[in-house]
Amino acid sequence: MATAAPAHVTPDAGRDVRPLSVEGLTIRFGGIVALQDVSFTVRPGTIHALIGPNGAGKSTCFNAITGIYPPTEGRILLGDKVLTDTPAHRIAALGVGRAFQNLALVGSSSVLDNVMLGRYSLTSGGFLAYGLRLPWTMRAERRHQERAAEICDFIGIAAHLHKPAGVLSYGDQKRVDIARALAVEPTILMLDEPAAGMNSSETAEMAGLIHDIREGLGISILLVEHDMSLVMGIADQVTVLDFGRLIADDVPAVVQKDPSVIRAYLGAEGSQTHDAPAAPASAPHPQPDEKETPA
Ligand code: ADP
Ligand code: MG
Repeated sequence: MATAAPAHVTPDAGRDVRPLSVEGLTIRFGGIVALQDVSFTVRPGTIHALIGPNGAGKSTCFNAITGIYPPTEGRILLGDKVLTDTPAHRIAALGVGRAFQNLALVGSSSVLDNVMLGRYSLTSGGFLAYGLRLPWTMRAERRHQERAAEICDFIGIAAHLHKPAGVLSYGDQKRVDIARALAVEPTILMLDEPAAGMNSSETAEMAGLIHDIREGLGISILLVEHDMSLVMGIADQVTVLDFGRLIADDVPAVVQKDPSVIRAYLGAEGSQTHDAPAAPASAPHPQPDEKETPA
């Protein structure tokens, strides 16, 4: 597992890490209000958790930040750039990297090629120039491959670079997905349930990796996660959603004791077992089909 950024990984050099501001965000799907007037700020360089029972609106919020869902009301800014006015395909290039709740890897392609997918949002020539194998694109591609390999090294998957992603363990595939998100050189990394489906030792490793990414790269991390020991152990700030409304936004120690948070999670008990703040739970709200596309 990565412990610190190798000396040659200096992706934070010159990177301007700015706050991500969600301002009065409302998203409706027909009659369903998925998010209702939600505002919070991810401060630069912090690990910020977004939690809440199933159906609370966490993935919808992620989809709004990455431009997949347009807001019904409100806006989202990264520094002074208005993400909600930016086409989805340009948001990654502004510094928003996203890993997915359900793995979005090409199993038959190599780990390196999967991570390279993240680089294409940064290239001016795009897929077509690469497909034509123009000389300048070949030179650029080599540089991008070196960078992708560095990122894999940092994430602890360097040994698997040329293996098909599909043969890796689940935990390592999650790492490849995170490496792909880091390949866009983000200033904010968004992780949707990175520890889902992991046992406790894998979860502890994932917590270590998230911590190392923040320490090593100096970027912000916005994290949706059900595992409360992970969230409360590494988050600087925790925003809690319930039925699309923000019910708490504070440091872990305060959120854990917040009566409305405890109530939301207790109300969620029964349908599924999940960790919630105090003696955590997850939820009864309807679970939509995840609608997510790679950045
Ligand atoms: P979470 O990720 O917190 O579990 P979601 O953001 O996925 O919650 O869902 C929040 C609410 O929005 C749910 O009621 C869900 O059914 C609804 N929802 C999410 N995406 C869509 C969609 N594309 N169309 C209709 N309803 C949706
Ligand atoms: Mg979700």
